[in-house]
Amino acid sequence: MLHILEAELAGQLAAGEAIDRPAAVARELIENALDAGARRITIALQAGGTSWLRVSDDGHGIAADGIVLVGTRHATSKLSSLDELATIATHGFRGVALASIAAVSRLTISSRTADAAAATELRLAGGTIQHRRMHAAPVGTSVTVEQLFYTMPQRRRFLHGAGAEAAAVIAVATHYALVVPQVAFCVVVDGRHVLATSGCGQVRAALAAIYGATVAGAMIDVAPDQHAAPGAPRVRGLLTPPGYNRRGRDGIHLSLNRHAVAARGRLPAVIEAAYRGLLAPGEHPIAVLDIAIDPADVDRLGRTMHRGIRLQAESFVAAAVFRASRAALAERRSVALPLPAAPTAPAVSPAATAGWRPIGQYAGRFILAEAEQGLAIIDQRGADIGGRQAALLAQWRAGGPAAQLLSPALTLPLDERRLARLLAQATALQRWGFAIAEFGPGVIVRHAPTELTPIQVGRALSAISGDAEPTTEAIALAIAEATAVEAGIALSHAECGAIVARWCASRNGDHSPVGPVVAWLTPARLGVLMQQEAVRQHPVGTASA
Ligand code: ADP
Ligand code: MG
Repeated sequence: MLHILEAELAGQLAAGEAIDRPAAVARELIENALDAGARRITIALQAGGTSWLRVSDDGHGIAADGIVLVGTRHATSKLSSLDELATIATHGFRGVALASIAAVSRLTISSRTADAAAATELRLAGGTIQHRRMHAAPVGTSVTVEQLFYTMPQRRRFLHGAGAEAAAVIAVATHYALVVPQVAFCVVVDGRHVLATSGCGQVRAALAAIYGATVAGAMIDVAPDQHAAPGAPRVRGLLTPPGYNRRGRDGIHLSLNRHAVAARGRLPAVIEAAYRGLLAPGEHPIAVLDIAIDPADVDRLGRTMHRGIRLQAESFVAAAVFRASRAALAERRSVALPLPAAPTAPAVSPAATAGWRPIGQYAGRFILAEAEQGLAIIDQRGADIGGRQAALLAQWRAGGPAAQLLSPALTLPLDERRLARLLAQATALQRWGFAIAEFGPGVIVRHAPTELTPIQVGRALSAISGDAEPTTEAIALAIAEATAVEAGIALSHAECGAIVARWCASRNGDHSPVGPVVAWLTPARLGVLMQQEAVRQHPVGTASA
């Protein structure tokens, strides 16, 4: 239940975080959503978040009678006495964030609990209630902040451009998406989806959504030290192996007892020290590490979770982080990431199937289609490769496929020989939509053809780097092979149709560059098969009279 802290207790709690930019607003609203047990959090903003920013969640919501306290300082449901401080597990507990944001903006909060029939919406301007109403909405809370700092125009002058403010919000969301992988995060900037994690609980899956599957698959497990003294901090998470470096420390994501903390102070330097000799100057790793410590070692009153960690024993923690990172790097265990390749199928008109009528899929790897000659049994992967290669070559002749910006850029480690070969193709690859440059022992890919997922980009470029002098056809084939549907993937009727249509459009015989694609069953052949079957069931001489 939301209530107001007594003045004495409120006075003893350190002042709240300054709300200095949209990213600070996003952080407070995300933390409130997490405290409310949300499984899905959406952050949407326009123009860098100063004109409009909304955080919606599917958490437990706020009861209608509590919501009116929202603009009031020290209104919290998480703490009522100082004694509780030691046991508190939530992110916020001072009850100042919402009031501070409401004071400097036009804030609308809409919330519904599971037992309420409707949601209550409250609108505030500069912290004053303007309007309250009931409306239909799902269980959860949505907070919309408009015209941030309209009450204090001097604050607006300290803001950066919309792009930089939006980037800061995305960085905050990215951090929580990695540290709390069991919650699905979605970020929409000016109507564009820029981040979406599944909330499946796997850090590696969240990493794949953010940094690409190649990086996620290469990351090394950091496991708690088995021989650590009882009560020592336990460090667990993932680190990039040497070679997957970034230019800044923005890839270091830390949490303390599963609460996000900023990677400031000694800890990032300690992690990098563990790479001793493996990082060039100016290179930084990607790391997602959780540090589990005795709650008594966290200075709760002084704690400002997102401003860095204030620990009563920081060097104790730093030593544990160093040891765990060092041990992981020495062992270098990485795993392959079994991510399904999303079959992307450009639309093709059914007329293009040249009289082939797709019937459906058989045995998970064949597409059956009826054609004039008979029943075509089509190898789905072979046909998709052939069709895509031809379509890609047609796009290449027309100037090249459309390119997408990979954000974040993808890094692909390569040995020297492959690196040299790929760099020799850099100009040729531009027409294919790839922008690559040397980076660490490998390349960094900033642009790629629009249809490719990060994992497919990695596959295509690896294949191209394996060829000493790839022809245009070979490059098209490498991209086609990286994107084509695998055998064993279930296909819808529409997907079968798209593959058959592309195949028919490209078809030059029943083969693709990777081998035979179609086997035919004609009525005549079926007649023969039927006869053979009859003989097998009733061999001559045993037929009963
Ligand atoms: P604190 O998080 O420190 O308690 P806030 O000002 O951030 O203070 O939030 C005040 C109170 O509003 C919280 O204690 C909580 O009860 C309620 N609240 C805020 N956001 C949400 C949300 N998304 N879902 C449910 N309750 C919320
Ligand atoms: Mg809060």
